[in-house]
Formats: sequence, C-alpha cells, structure tokens
Amino acid sequence: MKKQFAVIGLGRFGVSVSTELHKLGHEVLAIDTNETKVNEIVNDSTHSSVADGTDEKAMRELGITNFDHVIVAIGDNIQASILCTLLLKEMGIESVWVKAQNYYHHKVLDKIGADKIIHPEHDMGNRIAQHLVSEKVIDYIELSDDFSIVEIAAPKFMNERTLIELDIRAKFGVTILGIKRGKNFNISPMAEDQILENDILIVIGHKNDLKRFEETT
Ligand code: ADP
Repeated sequence: MKKQFAVIGLGRFGVSVSTELHKLGHEVLAIDTNETKVNEIVNDSTHSSVADGTDEKAMRELGITNFDHVIVAIGDNIQASILCTLLLKEMGIESVWVKAQNYYHHKVLDKIGADKIIHPEHDMGNRIAQHLVSEKVIDYIELSDDFSIVEIAAPKFMNERTLIELDIRAKFGVTILGIKRGKNFNISPMAEDQILENDILIVIGHKNDLKRFEETT
C-alpha cells in the first residue's frame, strides 16, 4: 500500500531515507531550508520544497498534517529539531520519527512525544561490531537492550534436520523466524521444514540465548 511520508532535513540521513522510500514506491515530500539540498533530491522524491520545519505556517501550507509519517532528520541544529518535533506533535501528526544527536536530545524528544527516536550512527556501529566479533552473524537488529534479531549461517549441527527434531526454542530459548535458501525466503517455517547446508536463519531472542546459539557449531 502506498503511504505518504514527509522528510524534514536533507543531510546524509534524510536523503537516504527519502531516496529509499521513493524507490519503494511511496509518496515522499522532501523539505529543507537549503535550496541546493532541495534541488538535489528532485529526482528521488515526489515533491520537494524549500521550507523551515520550525515554521508552523509554512508546514501547514505544505499540507504536512495530511502525511501518515513525518521523519525529522534535522541534524546538528538540535534546537530546530526539538521545535519542529513539538510543532508536528501539536498539529496532531500521528507518527513522528526523529533522528537524535545525543542522549540529552533523545531525552527531550522522548518528553515531547516523538514516536520513535533514531540514532543511526549508534545502531550502525552496533551492527558492524556484531559482524566483527562473530563471523557467523550476517546481519543484526537490536530490538531493545535485551532482545535482538540476527541473520546467521545455519550451524552445522542443524544440517538435514527438521525444526521439530531440533527443538531450538526449548534448547536455546530462541525462535527461527525465517529461512533463506539462495533466492528463496521461507518466512513462516513449519515444524517439518528441514535445514540444509548454506541456509541462512533469521532468529529472534534474548541476546544471551542468541549468543549461546551462535556459538554452537
Ligand atoms: P546528517 O548528519 O544526517 O548529514 P546534517 O546536520 O548534515 O545531518 O543535515 C541536516 C539538514 O537539515 C541540513 O541539510 C539542514 O539544511 C537541514 N535543516 C536544518 N535546520 C532545518 C530546519 N529548521 N528546517 C528544515 N531543514 C533544516
């Protein structure tokens, strides 16, 4: 289903979010105070506009309240990021996701009702660290301090055995969400599905349990 997104602030983060959403076929309004940035995103957005995200009148004129999701990607200007978020929430926008620069910025955004607070450098750093320490981990998403999802090469002991035989949930406390085999992706594996050599598993669980599972060969 096609959704409507507005992205305010077209630094590196804002540009990659806009470009990807547009590529995925969604409607994207890209906004920045800097005209050059706005001109550069013309082909990777549906509409683009030079405007100040802290200017309520300008935001209303752009019809910002009609958007399902607004992403505030104003970087270094923390004051503008906070003011813009406050304004958007006061205008009744349901889903406002904001890029935070640091812990204090995060705290304020949380207090004023930002729906999701993103730390791209921190999140990416975590994922890269996971790749570095474990050769088996292909990708990693942190869900909370305790839980995450990992994409991992199927350990050898699973080879040619079915999920029911392996009983991974009972033995490790983790759940297999999906199995990738070449170009095929089984997103709701059944108990009788077999794991084969070179399969990639998508696994969710507590970090300690996932670690135990990763370390088993
Ligand atoms: P990143 O770290 O993602 O590259 P930057 O801090 O470099 O982020 O970029 C933030 C963008 O936000 C800049 O293009 C800047 O012009 C834009 N910006 C700053 N203040 C506002 C504002 N009040 N309204 C809209 N855009 C803004």
